[in-house]
Amino acid sequence: MPEMLTESERALAGRVRDFAEGVLLPLADNGEDPRNARQRVIEASKEAGFFAMTQPKAFGGTESGALALTIVRDELGAFNTPYAGAVFGPGPGVLGGASEQLRSTHLAPLLEGRMRGGFGFTEPDDAPSPTAAVLEDDHWIVNGQKSYVTGGADADFINTLVQVPGKGPAMILIDTDAPGVELVRTFSSLDGSHHAAFEFRDVKVPAHHMIGKPGEGMPRALQQIGDTRLAFAASAVGTLRWLDAFLVTHLKQPDRSGTPRGDKEGVRLRYSDIRMKAYAARSMVYRTARLADSGEDIRNEGMAAKIFTTELVGEAVDTAIQLVGGGALVVGHPLEALYRQVRSLRLAEGASDILRLNLARGALELDKGRI
Ligand SMILES: Cc1cc2nc3c(=O)[nH]c(=O)nc-3n(C[C@H](O)[C@H](O)[C@H](O)COP(=O)(O)OP(=O)(O)OC[C@H]3O[C@@H](n4cnc5c(N)ncnc54)[C@H](O)[C@@H]3O)c2cc1C
Repeated sequence: MPEMLTESERALAGRVRDFAEGVLLPLADNGEDPRNARQRVIEASKEAGFFAMTQPKAFGGTESGALALTIVRDELGAFNTPYAGAVFGPGPGVLGGASEQLRSTHLAPLLEGRMRGGFGFTEPDDAPSPTAAVLEDDHWIVNGQKSYVTGGADADFINTLVQVPGKGPAMILIDTDAPGVELVRTFSSLDGSHHAAFEFRDVKVPAHHMIGKPGEGMPRALQQIGDTRLAFAASAVGTLRWLDAFLVTHLKQPDRSGTPRGDKEGVRLRYSDIRMKAYAARSMVYRTARLADSGEDIRNEGMAAKIFTTELVGEAVDTAIQLVGGGALVVGHPLEALYRQVRSLRLAEGASDILRLNLARGALELDKGRI
């Protein structure tokens, strides 16, 4: 629970708050070029000791546990500032299980920020057949398509889910400058993030670019997604804290009649719902992080936390807009921006209903998970 932090964990939370106040808040709306601002955050985060918290010790990182990462994400979320996503350096993702060769040619430069990677899982609804890889001598021949690769236009490589005929799914690293890789479309989503769609035509990929063995692709891909679910949940509860503080200020102010907005019973009921569920959400996330740090399998709890917190933050921002009124929909209002930002959380890294089905499967068929 957030109340039961050790002295050093409380100090970590304090350092995050100092960082948000000293580095992130001054960058909000200061007109600086976003690339420069992002770079400044990265440099400041390295100096403050946050950047390497998501990176393995073998590569110079400080590899922090789930609770420490949750504390940082929760505190950052509570400031609702731009560039919070630049605070942590890239983690290894599926490349954590890559061959020695890939670790030096791709993983090390990725962690140092010299290379960028994308994740190719989602395929277009009208794909003629799933992306497939066939072994020929010492290389794979890949054919297929991926429709939603975040950061794909700037990626040096894509960790791609492919089907190996007769063996099942596999993860393979495809360099975006390899002959036969075509970037067919770039697009942005509601939250402002940028994505790309790719086609692969007879792309020749070295055999050692396969991560793990054929047949292991789905668990590896899902693990990559699974690792980020608690991260989404922790950021979402931080955002709920920001929202709560925003609403408290708003509801204490007088409306046209001269009485505080929060004096109306109907308004209080709506506000209490948000506060009550936010309390449950924050408790859930910290409990899940502690379970993860004690070595427990948190696949089911991570899914539950991701569904609950991301649906809640969407519902809460929506209610907050209703309580504030039309002014909250004016472009540039913090709630307008937040509304766009949180909508994608219910789809990215696992659509809510698909995760619900997995949660039910965990309990009904696998006897896994806890309440
Ligand atoms: C901001 C953002 C970033 C993303 N980044 C990436 C990325 O980097 N790499 C990548 O590969 N993908 C990425 N995606 C895509 C994302 O992973 C998919 O949108 C998500 O997995 C859902 O898949 P889909 O869009 O194909 O929808 P579908 O799988 O078609 O699902 C659409 C809806 O249909 C219903 N549904 C589907 N299947 C079932 C079922 N079995 N049971 C019940 N209901 C079901 C659900 O309501 C579901 O929400 C990103 C998406 C967003 C929004």
